[in-house]
Amino acid sequence: MSESTPIETVWIDGEFVEAAEATESVLAHGLHYGAGVLEGVRYYDSGMGSVLFHWDDHLDRFYRSARLFDLDIEYDRAELTAAAIELVRAHEFRDGYLRPLAYFGPSFDGPSLHEIEAFPTRVVLMTWPRASRIHDDGIDVMTSSWRRLSSTQVPTTAKLTGPYASNMLARLEARRNGYEDAIMLNSQGEVAEGSTANLVVVDDGDIRTPGPAADILDGITKTAVVELARDLEYHVEDRTRISRGELYDADELFFVGTGAEITPIVSLDGMAIGSGTVGHHTRRIRERFFEVVRRTTDEYDDWFTYA
Ligand code: PMP
Repeated sequence: MSESTPIETVWIDGEFVEAAEATESVLAHGLHYGAGVLEGVRYYDSGMGSVLFHWDDHLDRFYRSARLFDLDIEYDRAELTAAAIELVRAHEFRDGYLRPLAYFGPSFDGPSLHEIEAFPTRVVLMTWPRASRIHDDGIDVMTSSWRRLSSTQVPTTAKLTGPYASNMLARLEARRNGYEDAIMLNSQGEVAEGSTANLVVVDDGDIRTPGPAADILDGITKTAVVELARDLEYHVEDRTRISRGELYDADELFFVGTGAEITPIVSLDGMAIGSGTVGHHTRRIRERFFEVVRRTTDEYDDWFTYA
């Protein structure tokens, strides 16, 4: 984040604190072993204030992920929701990214998580500006040599901080090789997802996307986009298995996720996907997505929390 990023305030354990004062001890357990949980939530300028996209689902996943570490988030949904809304309102930007984070604080005692009561737990909300990127030319991606972690190694449907090391290596490998991002296969060699987004395949006007059995993070944006696509009368197979080879024959590919929103993929491993330009169906679904999140339609109102 640049120094000019206008993050003024963060919320830590019930208090609003100036961002510059929000520092952490080097003894924080979460810093050493990645036993933390995180969320990423988009909010959009609706023209009448900001709207948080699927906030309730992000909160669900936040609490669900924390249970895995016996990490006790002592704030209930109403408290975190009120804090999030106040934090969004406290900043001038209306298009942003909100990051809930919870981890074990300073009480350094090796990687152990037993006697967890001795560890102070931190719960933090922070926000920064984030405008949508339309990616009109689409992006070039590669198949990563790093495999998506298996859910026999770590629960892949949770959003835990430590396992992101694997996703970061995949993205770094892609960037080093001149690609924008990576597609990760799972330990069986089937298609899993992007480094920080889910993958959607369009073939003959039908849509397919891997499900949790492929060891993906079953994204909140993907679930929403599947609903939108079905409402646009697409046939969608949401929990399918996809082989690597099928990707090169696809008509269109795109990423979906909180950060990615809808990001068209125009080549994979140096091979054009379809025509090698942003496809018709990707455009159509993307346009619909932005109509909805910018609230130029009043449909899908229950997807939004008004700040
Ligand atoms: N997979 C991974 C690995 C991710 O990091 C993300 C971003 N959270 C996604 C998928 C998309 O999930 P969501 O739509 O819930 O942000």
